[in-house]
Amino acid sequence: MSKPRTFVPSGEPSIRALLASAPFKAATDALAETHARFIGELIMLTEVPAPPFKEERRGSAYRGLLEAANLEEIAIDAVGNVTGLRRGNGRGERLIAISAHLDTVFPEGTDVTVRRDGYRLAAPGVGDNTRGLATILAYLRALDAAEIRTRDDILVLATVGEEGEGDLRGMRHFFTESVYRDRIAALICLDGPTPANTIVSGGTGSKRYRVTFRGPGGHSFADHGIVNPMIAAARTVVELGLLSLPDDPKTTCSSTVIEGGNSVNAIPAEVSLMVDLRSNSPSELVDLDARFHGIVLQSCHVENDSRSIEKGAIAVEILLIGDRPAGETAAGELTRCAKAAIEAIGETPVFGSFSTDANVAMSLGIPAVTLSWGGQGGNAHALSEWTDVNPERSLPGMSVGLAVLLACAGVDIDQ
Ligand SMILES: [Zn+2]
Repeated sequence: MSKPRTFVPSGEPSIRALLASAPFKAATDALAETHARFIGELIMLTEVPAPPFKEERRGSAYRGLLEAANLEEIAIDAVGNVTGLRRGNGRGERLIAISAHLDTVFPEGTDVTVRRDGYRLAAPGVGDNTRGLATILAYLRALDAAEIRTRDDILVLATVGEEGEGDLRGMRHFFTESVYRDRIAALICLDGPTPANTIVSGGTGSKRYRVTFRGPGGHSFADHGIVNPMIAAARTVVELGLLSLPDDPKTTCSSTVIEGGNSVNAIPAEVSLMVDLRSNSPSELVDLDARFHGIVLQSCHVENDSRSIEKGAIAVEILLIGDRPAGETAAGELTRCAKAAIEAIGETPVFGSFSTDANVAMSLGIPAVTLSWGGQGGNAHALSEWTDVNPERSLPGMSVGLAVLLACAGVDIDQ
């Protein structure tokens, strides 16, 4: 694990000077000129399926696109993350990472053909997050067209396992194993669809559990009086529901799935329960986690003390099925740049906390934000997912991530 570090502001140029500079203008002009190619790549990548835990095909397609973009050190790591380096002018020591996730939520066999109607593209995964991947390629082309050589190196990172049960496994692996991990000074994740004025600077942490209570089971009438795992599970649900939790930082505990029993006239031998714990604060999540464990064990004890254990006692198994670290990027250079870039397109920045790939960096103390890929879209995670690629509506939003990337990586605006 890396040590927490602070992001040292580059100082020059200031974000405002950068936004007004000729190189930035040249880069945004290039984004506009190459927009049709961006749309083409978005469609092509969307049609390469990337089901959960099966991102290989899309990963190798993306690798090919990074090669075409002339990046160096292009590689696919042990879990399937794709990386490539755009070298700076050699005067910076830092590495600025820009990432988007490869995986979608859609299972193998889902029809991912893009249906195009003018500037409206519809297909599973087209927005979340294929558009993030395609936006990074558009940025690379814009930097080349504008002949911008940044001070720091830029690392492009396409991750696996961001969604659902993927549990951020790509980003976790990166920050555990990657040779680059100790050089990352800031991480910019592009993900959506979120409005272009969104700055995700908080990472909501979560812990998800499957709790299984097992007992002897028996006849509902003949064995009445023996311990019942359903009662232990029910007590757990009720006690968790009675927990008093802070509104700020927002902290939640939800019992979500309960399963068990097999006959109306049988005391069940097994009942399982799924629970989702979340908080915007790492310490609140640790505290809630301890209270959760206490309640589960206590519910088990109470049931064993309340009824007969002659045929056997209740045992409980607590299985962690999801673990996303909480974190926050404190107000500083990175959030200030994001705010200024959003204000420059006439929008009012809105800060928020979500669970994204940026959580991992935030939990390590590395400045990270998740920004929109800068266009409109909807129905993420549904088969009817769509995204709008009208340049008039897309380009201002796309300029935000590019400005933040350049502000972080440093650029000579008099070049
Ligand atoms: Zn996403």
